[in-house]
Amino acid sequence: MNYQLIDQSLEINITGLVQGVGFRPFVYRLARNLGLNGWVNNSAEGVLIQVEGNPEKLTQFLTKLQSENPPRSRIDFLEFNPIESIGYDNFEIRESINGDKTTPILPDLSTCSDCLKEIFDPHNRRYHYPFANCTNCGPRYSIIHSLPYDRPNTSMKGFVMCAECQTEYENPCDRRFHAQPNACPICGPQLTFQNRQGEILSIKNQALLDAINAIQQGKIVAIKGLGGFQLIVSGIDSIAVQKLRERKHRPDKPFALMYPNLNLIQQDCEVDDLEEKLLTSPEAPIVILKKKHDYSQNLAPEIAPDNPYLGVMLPYTPLHHLLLAKLNIPLVATSANLSDEPICIDEKDALFRLGNIADLFLIHNRPIVRPLDDSIARIINHQETLLRRARGYAPFSIPLAPNTSDLSPILAVGSHLKNTIAIAHYQNIYLSQHIGDLSNKLTYEAFNQTIENLGGLYEFKPQIIAHDAHPDYLSSQYAHTQNLELIPIQHHYAHILSCLIDNQLEPPVLGIAWDGTGYGANDTLWGGEFIHVTQTNWQRIAYFQPFKLLGGEKSVKEPKRIALSLLAQLEINLLENLPITLKNQFTKSELILFKNILAKNLNYSLTSSVGRLFDGVSSILGIGHQVSFEGQAAMALEFATLDTKTDEFYDFSLTQNKIIQWQPMLTAILEDLNNNLSISFISAKFHNTLVEIIVAIAKLVGEKKVILTGGCFQNLYLVEKAIARLKAENFVPYWHHQIPSNDGGISVGQILGAIREISRKNSKM
Ligand code: ZN
Ligand code: ZN
Ligand code: FE
Repeated sequence: MNYQLIDQSLEINITGLVQGVGFRPFVYRLARNLGLNGWVNNSAEGVLIQVEGNPEKLTQFLTKLQSENPPRSRIDFLEFNPIESIGYDNFEIRESINGDKTTPILPDLSTCSDCLKEIFDPHNRRYHYPFANCTNCGPRYSIIHSLPYDRPNTSMKGFVMCAECQTEYENPCDRRFHAQPNACPICGPQLTFQNRQGEILSIKNQALLDAINAIQQGKIVAIKGLGGFQLIVSGIDSIAVQKLRERKHRPDKPFALMYPNLNLIQQDCEVDDLEEKLLTSPEAPIVILKKKHDYSQNLAPEIAPDNPYLGVMLPYTPLHHLLLAKLNIPLVATSANLSDEPICIDEKDALFRLGNIADLFLIHNRPIVRPLDDSIARIINHQETLLRRARGYAPFSIPLAPNTSDLSPILAVGSHLKNTIAIAHYQNIYLSQHIGDLSNKLTYEAFNQTIENLGGLYEFKPQIIAHDAHPDYLSSQYAHTQNLELIPIQHHYAHILSCLIDNQLEPPVLGIAWDGTGYGANDTLWGGEFIHVTQTNWQRIAYFQPFKLLGGEKSVKEPKRIALSLLAQLEINLLENLPITLKNQFTKSELILFKNILAKNLNYSLTSSVGRLFDGVSSILGIGHQVSFEGQAAMALEFATLDTKTDEFYDFSLTQNKIIQWQPMLTAILEDLNNNLSISFISAKFHNTLVEIIVAIAKLVGEKKVILTGGCFQNLYLVEKAIARLKAENFVPYWHHQIPSNDGGISVGQILGAIREISRKNSKM
């Protein structure tokens, strides 16, 4: 940009990610280097600057503000106005001022390379200190109580900086200038090692060594990390991993691993450039990686049973670095909770809730303000896609379109599973961290706290609540108790809108939303939907022929029930002609019972869900009859495709009303099964059929932009094949990147749904 300036004095307002990232010292150094005078401070909206001097230098100042800004910062908006000259005689960094609280908060950042060098340097005063950090790294969102981001507003307020730390903190040329969590072994947080009774066994470095020793001996150690406690066991100790599974009541769901370094990851997993970048990024998520064929046989097979992928991350705090450097083996590192509960953040709570899971506790005295699980990401079609947004990514802010900034404040309460909430406030949407499954009482409490907490940070008071149309979701029930204007948003429409925001896309689009189940209309559960979204409206234009969920929700845990109802709909004799592995899942009397229930149309709900179709086919193929976690059978079906390359697909048909008839496909699957074709081949053909259905409907609708959203599009085979086929047919496919395609994205979609609803109403008036 070119600025023609005649004024010699300017006031500059900057918003975006400009706090806690070394932005003010950057401004300070820039102004000093250019010989300009004035000041900079943190405002509640961002950063405010008054600067005066030579017009040419001022021009350079404005340009460099935007071209040389610190790596972790992001400027969303910069405005400057001439002001009366004051006659400053130096440039200084001033105290923060209060105002409207709208500045985006920075997520927690993994340890930077400078801090890392220090903690492994015996001559450095932070040698082996587990809480070293600086302006470029360390805790942020996990320690903030309120804005602006200054030490007294964080959980570091109880730690008084020693003279040396204070000097660093006050020196604009130091890496720790205004690093709010700045700490050292003299003045900062410390470790203790405790038993289940809460007795302190050792402190400081000895605590770390004792924890290392315990892990080596196969103990389960609960470690207070950045956004909560993690349960840690040795990744090469089968017995320890089994013990963890039993105590955590988690029989099958894969555990994540933390590796000491990239080299060791590369020995076990395929890592391409993008995956490497993601693993070593400041966000340091768990990255889903493909296991190598010759991966380390030392790795406990119980970590991810029957799974060709591993969820892998690198150490992201000095504490993790110190542990892993000493142990030099991969560790299982999983959120510390019982299944479905939120992650523990408080030591008393940890001793109480984890007392039957963990043998020992490695704890520190820096309070964690809010729970943040480890985030999960994977590369889909050469781009990063987040499956769970939490530590390192939350909170997330997305600028609203300019014409929506005068909107009433909206709270969106999200879905039921994988819940997140979002708020629309001033010119931004803020998305919370992953909260979880609301049917768990503690998670529902965490949901309530997150609403208070995220709202509290921004002094946000909602006037409107957007919620799922499902009346039974606890999030919807919460909305109904709030005495505010409510806007229900249909689940799959919300999925599509979340993908629109993720891609900064304008309608019209053809949205394809496939997931487990969501509340639809006419008492059916939707989940295999093709929705046309126009500038002002939306319409369901195609869907899968509904089928019965035998026993309703029960069939989610037991895909074999779905298999029975699909086959019954084909008029297969359930007593005589079932595929053998499926037949073996039932006793004779059970089969007679289910046959009668199906024939008499008792005890079922109807669904058009593709996720459930996956489950049913998985069971018919003998892959997954029962599941212990959501998506397990469908994932197993996806994994089966890995051994086959084929573009073949099955027949399907469409009714006049564009209802997709899956029956011809299922008949052909049974034939292939009878002819002993490989499960892998049948599975690939099944996936390909779904992709061809997408292409066929896209051609019928003729909308260029096609959105792929919903939990089913976490399936790598499905989404990558759909992208390729749509491109080949000259469509422009869009999928998810920053916002999860699963129900973690629903709250953001609800916000846009509410905005669209409000503007539709306004335009009618
Ligand atoms: Zn650092
Ligand atoms: Zn200190
Ligand atoms: Fe969904």
